[in-house]
Amino acid sequence: MFWFKMNTRYDMAFHSIFLAFLLSFLLSDTTGEMPAPPKARNIILMIGDGMGISQVSAGMYANGNKTNLEKFSVTGLQKATASDRLITDSASGGTALACGVKTYVGAIGVNTDTMPVISILEEAEARGMATGMVTTSSITHATPAVFIAHVKLRNQFEDIAASFLKTEIDLFIGGGKKYFNRRITDNRNLIHELEKKGYFVSDYRQQPLDEIVPLAQKNFAYFTADAEPPPASKGRDYLPRASNMATYFLDRHSGKDGFFLMIEGAQIDWAGHENDNDYLVSEMIDFDEAIGRALKFAERDGQTLVIVTADHETGGYAINPGSRMDSLITAFTTDKHTAALIPVFAYGPGAEYFHGFYDNTAIYTKMRQALGWEER
Ligand code: MG
Ligand code: ZN
Repeated sequence: MFWFKMNTRYDMAFHSIFLAFLLSFLLSDTTGEMPAPPKARNIILMIGDGMGISQVSAGMYANGNKTNLEKFSVTGLQKATASDRLITDSASGGTALACGVKTYVGAIGVNTDTMPVISILEEAEARGMATGMVTTSSITHATPAVFIAHVKLRNQFEDIAASFLKTEIDLFIGGGKKYFNRRITDNRNLIHELEKKGYFVSDYRQQPLDEIVPLAQKNFAYFTADAEPPPASKGRDYLPRASNMATYFLDRHSGKDGFFLMIEGAQIDWAGHENDNDYLVSEMIDFDEAIGRALKFAERDGQTLVIVTADHETGGYAINPGSRMDSLITAFTTDKHTAALIPVFAYGPGAEYFHGFYDNTAIYTKMRQALGWEER
């Protein structure tokens, strides 16, 4: 009896030591197989509004079967549904990307209870990073708005413009000047207010963007139009250059903490709504050029994660039989958005997080992980 007890105790002690050893061996082996990806210092999030797989395909064929997206090491797919509908819009889809929250169609940076949810840009700013946005729409349009504003509906353009004064965003480039200086809902002149806050503010009428050398110590705001900028095919050519300028500006502005930059190809969506193939292809080629500039910065920098995705697909776009590389026969099934899965492309430190198949809200979480803000 006595010996039996002794033996049992001895066995149990040995057993637990053995188990602990086995466990530590297994754990070390697991972490050895899957080391944590290196952290990103900077993030460039590029959103092709309305850009589905067929849009990417058409842009590539029309560009001699080449796209900068081929240089991305990681691809994924995201489910872009809204909280209240299968088919989302740029407000709900954008809030998912920017804030990690599933919300209703039309919502700008608010949840289903219309309560504000903080965006990754706002958190980056609070954590001392430099932040910026570049778009080919007005800067108050849904896609940029979800990163900076918290309003119930996407058409509150003047409220969205006023939200820029509540942040310390370092750079923004886009249209929509009239929502800042010719307001209907109040008499504020937000351009004067921005200047008082220490921003350098200019616009397309005063001087071309490429003639401006922004001062590193001032924040930078540039309006490319009073309302919406023209299509690329009608002379708009600033997106690639502005994207390039923004990366270097924010890099200089960021000190030790890095930067977050959102770049939008806004009019891919508008071409889809208009069922206009030439419009669509020229917007895709313009956006691809901007992607090329961002990639070049990231390649040189080595600490920048570049993510390219969309908020939803627009037009039910297809490349039909009879198409050749140099002459596409395309069709649209609708002039609205569709529920198609959306591609995700990632390059740089933390790109590994974007492998696979996930919800649109996961892109927010993955960006936080890549920055080291959240445990895996
Ligand atoms: Mg948009
Ligand atoms: Zn749309």
